[in-house]
Amino acid sequence: MLQLQCPVCLKSTEPGMVESHGEYTLYNCPFCNVVYTHPMKNPGAEWYEKGYVEDNAMNEFLPLPINWWHRQFLISNETYGKELLDIGCGAGRFLHEAKNLGYKVSGIDFNSESIRIAKNRFGLADVERLSVESYATRHPDKKFDVITFFEVLEHMDDPNKFITQVKSRLRPGGFIALSVPNRRRFLDSLGEGDYPPHHLTRWNTKALGNFIERHGFEIKKMTVKEFTIDDLSLVMTHKLIARAKKKLTKDVTSRISNNEKTPFIYRNYQMIKTLKDYAMKGALLPFIPVLKIIKPQGWTIYCLARLR
Ligand SMILES: [Zn+2]
Repeated sequence: MLQLQCPVCLKSTEPGMVESHGEYTLYNCPFCNVVYTHPMKNPGAEWYEKGYVEDNAMNEFLPLPINWWHRQFLISNETYGKELLDIGCGAGRFLHEAKNLGYKVSGIDFNSESIRIAKNRFGLADVERLSVESYATRHPDKKFDVITFFEVLEHMDDPNKFITQVKSRLRPGGFIALSVPNRRRFLDSLGEGDYPPHHLTRWNTKALGNFIERHGFEIKKMTVKEFTIDDLSLVMTHKLIARAKKKLTKDVTSRISNNEKTPFIYRNYQMIKTLKDYAMKGALLPFIPVLKIIKPQGWTIYCLARLR
């Protein structure tokens, strides 16, 4: 029988198989409740360097709004004004908002184009194309009051090593704030984006809570996003016009890689997307009372925790 060591709680067991995608198989650990990929193989910095083309283009011309998880962090006032490092900061939308609220912000990301936009568009001085590991080498004495890593943990091939590195950059009593996709979510628009090697672990609140507490943190807040009519609209749009959307995205992406970076393209692209969204939301209005009654779980888990 197959025996595997769970990459999160490190216990060896005969795990239950969840599903498989090519060379990767997903297993459920009966001890810590995480679902993990075998092999745990991260596609590396190069892969992230090539991705996020569409997001970067959008952020350059029409900054995307901050996400639900960003808002969860920014509305809690426990950490206002402190020194903050955002791991996987992307184009810096969140850091920009945090800075406006008085945080002293720094950020790192694998994607050099995102870093360029963070500097140019948002005027963020302290953002670098680095991993947590190389950050520690470059700034050996630098510590923070808050470290945030939204939608990052599920990409890590060694979650324990990652959180240990995060801890080593925190001041005593420091905070972490993070988000991961909720594997207990209702419906799904992530599709292949949730498959390995993109996401290597899948979490629910129990697995995440176990993991964070085992590393010496006290959980201050753990919230699952509510499933809303916007989410339903996204799922339906994705399912019904997936092909059309793919073509549109491909078209925009190829123009971006050909350096035809005109705001005009993105305004049109954004406009078509917005119109489709409104049409879909209108058609789905009758479902609002149903969602209010069945209260399905949303796509994301947010967690704020403090070093004991
Ligand atoms: Zn485990």
